[in-house]
Amino acid sequence: MKVAVIGGGVAGLGSALALSRLGHEVTVFERDDTPTPATADEAFSWDRRGAPQVRHSHAFLARLRNLLRDHYPDILQSLIAEGATEMRFGDNLPATITNFERLPEDDDLVMLSCRRTTFEWVLRRAALAHGDVQMRTGHGVVGFTYAPGVVPRVTGIKLDDGTTHDADYVVAAGGRRSPVPEWLADIGCAPVNEQSEDTGIVYFSRFYRLKPGMEYPPRTGPIGGDLGYIKYGVFIGDNRTFSITLATPVADNQLRKLCSDPIVFDNIARSLVATSTWLDGCADPITQDVHVMAGLLNRWREYVVNDKPVVLGMHVVGDAHLCTNPLYGRGCTTSFLHAHLMAQAVANNPHDVAAQATELHESTQRELYPWYKSTVEQDTEARRVASAILDNQDPDSDTTDPRTMMRGVFRDGLLPAMRTDAVVMRAFFRSFNLLTLPDALMKDADIGARIFAVWNDRDNRVPEPALGPSTRAELLQLIPA
Ligand SMILES: Cc1cc2nc3c(=O)[nH]c(=O)nc-3n(C[C@H](O)[C@H](O)[C@H](O)COP(=O)(O)OP(=O)(O)OC[C@H]3O[C@@H](n4cnc5c(N)ncnc54)[C@H](O)[C@@H]3O)c2cc1C
Repeated sequence: MKVAVIGGGVAGLGSALALSRLGHEVTVFERDDTPTPATADEAFSWDRRGAPQVRHSHAFLARLRNLLRDHYPDILQSLIAEGATEMRFGDNLPATITNFERLPEDDDLVMLSCRRTTFEWVLRRAALAHGDVQMRTGHGVVGFTYAPGVVPRVTGIKLDDGTTHDADYVVAAGGRRSPVPEWLADIGCAPVNEQSEDTGIVYFSRFYRLKPGMEYPPRTGPIGGDLGYIKYGVFIGDNRTFSITLATPVADNQLRKLCSDPIVFDNIARSLVATSTWLDGCADPITQDVHVMAGLLNRWREYVVNDKPVVLGMHVVGDAHLCTNPLYGRGCTTSFLHAHLMAQAVANNPHDVAAQATELHESTQRELYPWYKSTVEQDTEARRVASAILDNQDPDSDTTDPRTMMRGVFRDGLLPAMRTDAVVMRAFFRSFNLLTLPDALMKDADIGARIFAVWNDRDNRVPEPALGPSTRAELLQLIPA
């Protein structure tokens, strides 16, 4: 079969890899006109304006690493050969955890550390090494060719140079700005179902490289956190690089402006316990500017409505279907997994495009929708807290509000329990890494009991050490005018 894939990001390349292994002839159309780099560092300066998030910190979760391990071990090996590293649960535990015993399931709890550009470059190289994958860069897709019908059938794509390309079916993987619903409307399809919500944050990232002879600081403490008025994290990259990300509420114009200044950015990072040791002289910045990304949505689109596909012969994968808040680091995992689910639906129904659409819809609902839902719930609460802080109010003032209690359980139960109990930490990281569903942690009676025991004991413990300036005003005071 001849397949046209729109977009050469994680979902498009994941689709090309999976479909070419089914024996399909795949052509990937990527609008960015950029030759494939030769090294990881060259990839870092890649012109990828169609996917501006490549200049931001990325975590690669265990679910993604396991998909590579189980289906593309050659790609996992290539990533490691190009400088990516594996971060295993159980390594670098804080000294306060004394009950860790390695379990067989811990072999699955391994994250991958590398820059997003390195990850995509290695994926692209692997896809192109397959004789059945062609990549046409510098070609933007502007719509579909189709055969009319009650449900229109896509027969190919229209390109921005006025030409068309025929395909037995099309995979749309054009990322978060993808206008697929409008293209479908243009060919007479029924509207897709869409839900979307602002994540409430603006993202700021800067990359660094260790100086010769220096090592990464110890990683026994948390490498990220949330002070309500600012969120932050450190991400290890490949080849002795790392990045720091700060995220401010959208409405906090003052902090947004400050974070985009590289000197202020570094100063803020130095005031946070988790990030300060990374900037105490062991590394130099490799991005002179701070990269900023706003307009970040959580968005879910359904292309099967009332049990009927709105289009035939076209599947949508990755961010074009589901975008989630980057803070949770899920997008590449959900995108690559989605490409894999799409290829399974194709393999299971090779000659029936309607059955492919239905199977993909069902597996997407089952495997991915819970993550969209949980992201929206978490963000709704985070926005409430951030807005109270910005209005100089105490987000926990209403003690009768169940959300206040849940925040208390998180802060004074789950977080301290993770510092002392490997069982709770493992359960948290399994969920964080998409190895269990989002509600698995709180549904597990043993884990719930451990967390509540720690929470109930909160008044008998010495207060937790501060993670950074405890109020926004305190942080602002640290920044010279
Ligand atoms: C600030 C930020 C930080 C993030 N951090 C993380 C993280 O830590 N971990 C994680 O897993 N995920 C993270 N993500 C999400 C992750 O980057 C995305 O989920 C992932 O890149 C989606 O892959 P995709 O292939 O669907 O889209 P993209 O990677 O965006 O690729 C889409 C491609 O399609 C091309 N394209 C678009 N339109 C057309 C067209 N009309 N014709 C031809 N080509 C076209 C674009 O040029 C682009 O190359 C982050 C996202 C953001 C915004």
